[in-house]
Amino acid sequence: MAYLSTHFKNISLNELVENFQTDKLSGIAHDKTAITFDDGYQDNFLNACPILKNNQLTATIFLISNLVNSSKAMLNIDEITTMQKDGIDFESHTVTHKILSEITPDLAAKELLNSKIQLENLLNRKIRYLAYPKGKKQHYHQQIKSRAAQAGYSAAFTTENESINSQRDIFELGRIGIRNCSMFVFKTRVSGLFESPSIAFIRKILKIT
Ligand SMILES: [Zn+2]
Repeated sequence: MAYLSTHFKNISLNELVENFQTDKLSGIAHDKTAITFDDGYQDNFLNACPILKNNQLTATIFLISNLVNSSKAMLNIDEITTMQKDGIDFESHTVTHKILSEITPDLAAKELLNSKIQLENLLNRKIRYLAYPKGKKQHYHQQIKSRAAQAGYSAAFTTENESINSQRDIFELGRIGIRNCSMFVFKTRVSGLFESPSIAFIRKILKIT
């Protein structure tokens, strides 16, 4: 996080979407990053929030609306309120985290809409963004993207390892997944270098994800 804070301009998802719409995100590597977490585990409050705060970074947490206040492992409303005061934003990760491509279109529409309504009532603010559960291409499809737009979301995020530029579909914005990796791999990933067509080709051949 210290590296991100020093080398990149940290932006919120609102700023990201604004930049997207005004075509300010171009090129394979740029100097803006937004940080997101999925699911809403309590460790986001216990571990991530203090580190973000120390590095003056903002982030968005995608909540599974039915799981807020549900158990000790998940965030409760007091923790969410405290984090909101520290500039952390909260958005939707559906009601129950069902894989949207594997349920009926009606049920998928309910997962999208009801989560938005539940979170808006809980947080008393507008919910604008969605992260698809699991988020790989097989977990959402064109109809799901249309349903997300119909439910009133302004943008949706996947877990495909792609940085964002203004040529992307706003209901299919990739995110670079970071998990237990060396600092070298971390720097390479956030640099966007892995996104260049030649590197992507080599990765495909070597089957590196
Ligand atoms: Zn998830």
